[in-house]
Amino acid sequence: MSATLRSERIALDPPLPAALRRDVEQGVYYCSDLIADARVDRAAGAWIELDLLGVSDAELSDLTRVVRDWVERTVASSLAYEDTIAREWGRPEAGFRATPEQVLASADLHSMGEGLVAYGPRLASVFGALRELWDRLAAEVGATPLVLPAVATLEHMQRCDFLRQFPQLLSFVTHFREDFGVIDRYAEACRRGDTESACAPPAQDMSSFRRMLRPAICYHVYPCFEGEQLAGDLRLVHAWGDCFRYESRNTTGLDRLFDFRMYEVVALGSADAVHRWRSGMMERVVERFEALGLPGRLKTSNDPFFVSGSVLKSTFQRAHDLKYELEVPFPNREGHLAVASFNEHQDFFASRFGITTRDGEVASSGCSAFGLDRILAALLVHHGTDVNAWPAPTRQTLGLNT
Ligand code: 5GP
Ligand code: ZN
Repeated sequence: MSATLRSERIALDPPLPAALRRDVEQGVYYCSDLIADARVDRAAGAWIELDLLGVSDAELSDLTRVVRDWVERTVASSLAYEDTIAREWGRPEAGFRATPEQVLASADLHSMGEGLVAYGPRLASVFGALRELWDRLAAEVGATPLVLPAVATLEHMQRCDFLRQFPQLLSFVTHFREDFGVIDRYAEACRRGDTESACAPPAQDMSSFRRMLRPAICYHVYPCFEGEQLAGDLRLVHAWGDCFRYESRNTTGLDRLFDFRMYEVVALGSADAVHRWRSGMMERVVERFEALGLPGRLKTSNDPFFVSGSVLKSTFQRAHDLKYELEVPFPNREGHLAVASFNEHQDFFASRFGITTRDGEVASSGCSAFGLDRILAALLVHHGTDVNAWPAPTRQTLGLNT
């Protein structure tokens, strides 16, 4: 197969509704690994343009059919829905001080492969300050810390019903089968400097996949409370760490990583208490963003579902305002970057893990999740790549002056 690149425009009739244009642009990569880049007509939704790798005319007509079918299903499975903006603050017109490209070019940012970044000392200290700011927020609301593994068993994630909903994001963990023949052969290939064998061991030499990298923090919280009856009206915990989502070709910059760092505060309690907690949490977090000098908005949202059987869940999520996202103006195609989410799960997780309220009812849960790399990216594009020149209130809020 030649790796020549061709661009093809697929007409969409009827045009794609505005609310779906971003999701389709980001989801179309999962139609075929021959799609190198994709652009949707953001103005009218009348076409999707694909850059294709080494695709013949015959393959093109198959691929066009696959893409059209998938777009049709995506449209059929979503309701015409306009996100509601609950709150907006700051002055987006203040303009950006750096582009995402300038952020990436920072000498303190090291690429470790696609979607993998390391921070050098200067950015690592800002990252640490940001995490401590969130530690203070968590302590303020009465959350206690947990330390959780970055790997989850598939049994566990199946119990959380994650696997069916987001299979395109999964990253499995494997290892060699217990067989010295296999292990020695591999070690020998590495010793010979056989890069091909070292980097792509044969599938039959590997164990079956029983574990995966965690896609979020809160999935590990529920088993910590399995079978428990909560003593008070509300129990709050927090934890942070690396999370992993396979985002295909969408992986770019600090805002779309394969391995990113998430901070979560998770609530368990009565439905009322969790709902009140979430509202209060949104208030506090907006205050923090204002103190950081970051403009933004809070809007209702839903997780994009690209697979069949998803209709009910996403409709439900929208109908009940179960997910809010905090977005900061950002110089990308959307013009905004989602840096935090505030979610209510009702009794979805607590019923699966037998967690009950003090009154013996099935508990409710909720979480607020913060993408630390995205908040850092937002700070850098709004205030510039020279951290010492950031506005005094921002530095003060982060405790960077001391
Ligand atoms: P959620 O669970 O609501 O999808 O994600 C929680 C938060 O994690 C998001 O608001 C965002 O800040 C962060 N996040 C989600 N996906 C990515 C990603 O691909 N890269 C980065 N850097 N952060 C992400
Ligand atoms: Zn969560």
